[in-house]
Amino acid sequence: MVVKHAELPHLRRCVELAAEALEAGDEPFGSVLVGADGTVLAEDHNRVASGDRTRHPEFELARWSAAHLTPEERAAATVYTSGEHCPMCAAAHAWVGLGRIVYIASSEQLGSWLTELGVPAPPVRTLPIHEVAPGVAVEGPVPELTEEIRALHHRFHARRA
Ligand SMILES: [Zn+2]
Repeated sequence: MVVKHAELPHLRRCVELAAEALEAGDEPFGSVLVGADGTVLAEDHNRVASGDRTRHPEFELARWSAAHLTPEERAAATVYTSGEHCPMCAAAHAWVGLGRIVYIASSEQLGSWLTELGVPAPPVRTLPIHEVAPGVAVEGPVPELTEEIRALHHRFHARRA
């Protein structure tokens, strides 16, 4: 996809948040919720190292938006994220009525990197977002930043090897 110039800072922030997760001993995923006017409303990174494997940033942002935004604000918001939503997060995104998603790396790319690294398959099947949430506008991958995300996942799993 072609990233609009104004959107690159949000995607770069996702890479930073993923790196922060890695520094905190967590899987490198990060996401940013941006309002219709371009304002950053909320951001988070993966927190599954706590032991709760549902603590994905996209899930946290969906629940944050349900608590803090009107249905109209949610529909006009965009979620930028380092990796394509998993089925749980895609479902949460659609259930709360959030708008567009822009992801850097696809689930298919992540899956092939993890297979290369010998990481066991996750307990939840990987599906493209549109299989779970067909009404959501989705863009990605973003080739300019994909290599940075791949490198973070390599570092995470190399450290554990
Ligand atoms: Zn998820």
